[in-house]
Amino acid sequence: MKGRMAIFKGAHMPFDLRDYPLPQVGESDLLVSVSMSMVCGSDLHYWRGDLQSGMVAKHGEAVMGHEMVGRVYAKGASVTTDSNGALIKEGDRVVYTYFAGCMNCPRCLRGETASCPNKKMFVHHQAGQPPYFTGGFADYFYLSRGNYFFKVPDSLPDSMVAPINCSFSQVYFGLHLAEVRVGESVVIQGAGGLGLYAAAIAKERGANPIIVIDGIQGRLRMAHDFGASHTIDLTQHTTPAERVARVKEIVGPAGADVVVEVVGVPSAIVEGLQMTRMGGRYAVLGQVSAGEAGTIQFMPAMLLGKNIVSAACYDGWVLPKALDFLARTKDRYPFDKMVSHTYPLADITKAFQDSEWSRPGAHNLPVTRTAIVP
Ligand SMILES: [Zn+2]
Ligand SMILES: [Zn+2]
Repeated sequence: MKGRMAIFKGAHMPFDLRDYPLPQVGESDLLVSVSMSMVCGSDLHYWRGDLQSGMVAKHGEAVMGHEMVGRVYAKGASVTTDSNGALIKEGDRVVYTYFAGCMNCPRCLRGETASCPNKKMFVHHQAGQPPYFTGGFADYFYLSRGNYFFKVPDSLPDSMVAPINCSFSQVYFGLHLAEVRVGESVVIQGAGGLGLYAAAIAKERGANPIIVIDGIQGRLRMAHDFGASHTIDLTQHTTPAERVARVKEIVGPAGADVVVEVVGVPSAIVEGLQMTRMGGRYAVLGQVSAGEAGTIQFMPAMLLGKNIVSAACYDGWVLPKALDFLARTKDRYPFDKMVSHTYPLADITKAFQDSEWSRPGAHNLPVTRTAIVP
């Protein structure tokens, strides 16, 4: 038995599709048959060359793909339940964290696996090494012990579940860290996938008003469907000063209780801090691109007295909460519209080319989340 795996060769290079033998499944591991994998914004940063893959620099190629959902194809003898205690059998649909804490450090001891300095991530792996299937752009995925995994409720389609182990959980954890409370004002910088998720999560936490900032009309319309009470159009409020003024017009002169950065542009940080009230919280969740944030003045009251929180990954408890959130609220928000395009694995190069957000016409698309269905 063999399965296919797409191999990343570097920025703008066609992926190689290779066959590898299905590995023997270890005592505590799972082999998952992938049903859907997302092209994450971070994958696109590597594709565009904004970020350099250490694995590609060293070996000329890498295994890629970390947002996915699939079915248990084979399981080790000792695997009887998911990480929450639900019974697991072959054929069950599962999602899993794309990283695992070392479980042997002071951070893991406190359950803070997102902050583990030794955590294993399957963002880029060496290609051609057993158990081969170490990335989501493939027919199979080998899930080692240490990655929390959870059974998916039947009520949720793949297109809602595939993005949740990265983007959705990242935002869910970020708003937890920022402690968004009932009646608090929330500003969200960016209405891509993360921004739309942030609006829905803020709404469910009882926030009001919820202001979403973006420059694409379709996204701003979507933001209202995902719970925004107000939107600010970058094409009409073209300077940071105008946008800060507009936010204060809505929430009052002190600024917003919570501001959430999910735009990925470093310069947004200075602007977001200006929108945050003294004693408020600024959550930095979307900065996966390299670059300078500009100069941040601690004095006068630009930053002093404001709290910055940030997240890269999330603690393990978040993923089952994310599943539960989607199951409860899927009829209130159009989560099913988050996947805009679907491609077979054989067309993965085209999927990346078409997802390139700087290509002509891309700005007309409301959301450009692309899925690969093997
Ligand atoms: Zn991701
Ligand atoms: Zn650890």
